[in-house]
Amino acid sequence: MRATPAQLETSEIGHSLMDPFGRAITYLRVSVTDRCDFRCVYCMSEDMAFLPKRDLLTLEELDRICSAFVAKGVRKLRITGGEPLVRRDIMTLFGSLARHLESGALDELTVTTNGSQLARHAKDLAACGVRRVNVSLDTLDPDKFRAITRWGDLAKVMQGLDAAQGAGLKVKINAVALKGVNEDELETLLEWAHGRGMDLTLIEVMPLGEIDGQRIDQFLPLSMVRARLSGRYTLQDLDDRTGGPARYVRVKETGGRLGFITPMTHNFCESCNRVRVTCTGQLFMCLGQEDAADLRAPVRASESNDLLDRAIVDAIARKPKGHDFIIDRRHSRPALSRHMSVTGG
Ligand code: SAM
Repeated sequence: MRATPAQLETSEIGHSLMDPFGRAITYLRVSVTDRCDFRCVYCMSEDMAFLPKRDLLTLEELDRICSAFVAKGVRKLRITGGEPLVRRDIMTLFGSLARHLESGALDELTVTTNGSQLARHAKDLAACGVRRVNVSLDTLDPDKFRAITRWGDLAKVMQGLDAAQGAGLKVKINAVALKGVNEDELETLLEWAHGRGMDLTLIEVMPLGEIDGQRIDQFLPLSMVRARLSGRYTLQDLDDRTGGPARYVRVKETGGRLGFITPMTHNFCESCNRVRVTCTGQLFMCLGQEDAADLRAPVRASESNDLLDRAIVDAIARKPKGHDFIIDRRHSRPALSRHMSVTGG
């Protein structure tokens, strides 16, 4: 049911952000750059045009926006991209956001990364209060890894994982399930991840942005993967919700957790508690819809946060109920022209 303006006003006074469907917004994902040192085939085309640097929010502006959300009740902040760890001086942002962990205003500061730069940043991330990192890794085969990422070096990612675990960071592996590419390797990935004490989450490919190729050729429904894994493993449903869209099971034989993110075969919008800010300050209330609010203009218009706060509250008041992605032969165009690297995966 939609909240009345009076209810919205009340939630605003209570320093929390409530959307029209009664969902409290407690999770912010922030893309700090649209650039990446990989060109994953399902994510980007080979010759991506990136934004001019002047369009990007500065690190100070990113801090201001994150802090405005924290003041309004966001408890979890995820830094993402593009590849967040390729942004120059990015540790300055982690260092300044750490104050919200210290004050208790924020429960968690995390990062989603391809792992290529983790070896040099893992210790600093831990020192800034980061406790968990998500590392995207779709295969353990170096040649396949290069083919999927077009440019990536698996050995560097492995060094990054060693460094992260060495620094005491809890690592979760995210793998996009790709038909005919890594579908025969998912059990190997599972055994490997759980063997190293890392959770594994499988993701269905989503129709975001133009790529060189057809989505339908990549799409592997996780319902099929789950059915196949069930033949070999005992999958015990878990109630764990990490504030994200994943549904988790415990794999009895390995003792590890396995997550499924199924935007295509199972819509997870009803419990959505998140919004996303891009590196240019666009606030997207839904990953799968076009509507966005500009936060860069209010940030740059004044040193006080009044305009920024108003823009955030107004935007949350129009968060949509959900998305409706479709992948089939008739829908060969992407559902959205934006790449995941723009909105922040
Ligand atoms: N560079 C970082 C990384 O690799 O994790 C953060 C950004 S990346 C866009 C975030 C996640 O989105 C990655 O796990 C990536 O595999 C996933 N991703 C990108 N495009 C996708 C798509 N079209 N469908 C599903 N997942 C996608």
